[in-house]
Amino acid sequence: MFCSKCGNEIVDDAVVCTKCGCAVKGANSISAAAAGDDVPNGGLNILSFFVPLVGLILYCTMQSKTPRKAKQIGIFALVGFIINLVLVTVMSM
Ligand SMILES: [Zn+2]
Repeated sequence: MFCSKCGNEIVDDAVVCTKCGCAVKGANSISAAAAGDDVPNGGLNILSFFVPLVGLILYCTMQSKTPRKAKQIGIFALVGFIINLVLVTVMSM
């Protein structure tokens, strides 16, 4: 593809133009898509609730790419963990 500012040819996955240093349009659309993906996921939240360990792993792996999603999963995993702990304590009495 070509830089929209100076017209210099640049590699397709470049974030900035190597000649003029301006931000490349294509890179913006990629980050926008990634941001659009950062919405809480109900299914993963429920999974984290019932299997807190999975939630913890998801939280750690997703934190860098989708922080909002990861935060939700983290909360569900924590609540699920506490409820599991209470249930185990009650059942063992
Ligand atoms: Zn340029």
